[in-house]
Amino acid sequence: MNTEKSKNLFEEAKKYIPGGVNSPVRAFKSVGGDPLFIQRGVGSKFWDVDNNEFIDYIGSWGPHLFGHNPSFIIDSLKTAVENGTSFGSPTELEVKMAKLITELVPSVEMVRMVNSGTEATMSAVRAARGYTGKEKFIKFEGCYHGHADYFLIRAGSGALTLGVPTSPGVTKGNAADTLLADYNDIESVKKLVSSNKNKIAAIITEPVAGNMGVVKAKDGFIKELRSICDEEKIILIFDEVMTGFRVAAGGAQEILGIRPDLSTFGKIIGGGLPVGAFGGKKEIMEAIAPVGPVYQAGTLSGNPLAMAAGYAALKHIKNNPGIYKELEEKSAYLEIGFKNNIKSVGKNYAMGRVGSMMCMFFSEEPVSDFKSAVTSDTILYGKYFHEMLKRGIYLAPAQFEALFVSTAHSKEDLDKTISAHKESLAAIL
Ligand SMILES: *Cc1c(COP(=O)(O)O)cnc(C)c1O
Repeated sequence: MNTEKSKNLFEEAKKYIPGGVNSPVRAFKSVGGDPLFIQRGVGSKFWDVDNNEFIDYIGSWGPHLFGHNPSFIIDSLKTAVENGTSFGSPTELEVKMAKLITELVPSVEMVRMVNSGTEATMSAVRAARGYTGKEKFIKFEGCYHGHADYFLIRAGSGALTLGVPTSPGVTKGNAADTLLADYNDIESVKKLVSSNKNKIAAIITEPVAGNMGVVKAKDGFIKELRSICDEEKIILIFDEVMTGFRVAAGGAQEILGIRPDLSTFGKIIGGGLPVGAFGGKKEIMEAIAPVGPVYQAGTLSGNPLAMAAGYAALKHIKNNPGIYKELEEKSAYLEIGFKNNIKSVGKNYAMGRVGSMMCMFFSEEPVSDFKSAVTSDTILYGKYFHEMLKRGIYLAPAQFEALFVSTAHSKEDLDKTISAHKESLAAIL
């Protein structure tokens, strides 16, 4: 594969952009090698600057539920751009967008648009704190909620007491109000709740974990979180930035049949433009300025272009409820293909899948939380990634990320991917 233009661009990029990238995982650091610079995408495929073709399973890390550049999003954007890029005043499309979100996700009675998933989770936690007057919150080890300071905490030995900052730049003060629990371990939550009586504003979780690979919540786990929150007057926040509109039109909460108090969205909700949103119970949302005292704002929030793309995506979802069955069938087909290949090389690698998000772990232990996820052999993943890439299959350049299937992936794409997977496993083992 000739990647000369990408290589040159990367050398140039590193002079002006830290690490040459605007988001760290793009840099191929955990798989080795240099990142490819992408030029254009159509449907299930994209092409790099050297004109190599790939079947893409990153989908811009989640947004592209319909593949690259679907005409209904592009047409909507073209119309919007003719009218102007930004006004900083309310527009009709924001009202339509908010209404449509409340229709698709019934637990959301009111919603506010922001510019990224990070902003959405940050604002949701602030709303929960402002509304309850409490300061601490619980998050789960291995769940990702964007890069606000108090989310960038992982468990040390003091996991059940005080958080330990993971990233330099996160202060002890910021870490102190973040309590860490173990995913799928309700006892770890109960312990924190009883040792922090009346101090916990919120529990935030990914209802399907998608940032330590794909890890499904065990039966009853999320339901128990709901009960604990009800009993202790804690705000339950579902971070559906990845799962929202991906696993069902109503997100993971639709599948689980559980209503959170607040939800956060991103990725698909922007149709490929930078958008996030948070919403939920009217009572809580009305704590936010200008109705209530909790400050939250954004110069470009509800931006007309972003709303045009996002609204087109959500309207397409509303008008085509059959897409989730289609996505499930395609993803199950890919999963079965992968599983057969794994068996044929005499391995028992763990796989996680919920709808069109899935992950193969290079671990033969069952994966149910962060500690089991990190048993995966990431060196082997790096080799696998490059073998797949050589065969025209573009996966996330890191083990603990999801593979996303879109409606644009054809049976031919999936078959090609399954063959590449078989050859890649044979090449690395
Ligand atoms: C991607 C993601 C975020 C962060 O969203 P950004 O738009 O990257 O800021 C937050 N939570 C979850 C669950 C995510 O997958």
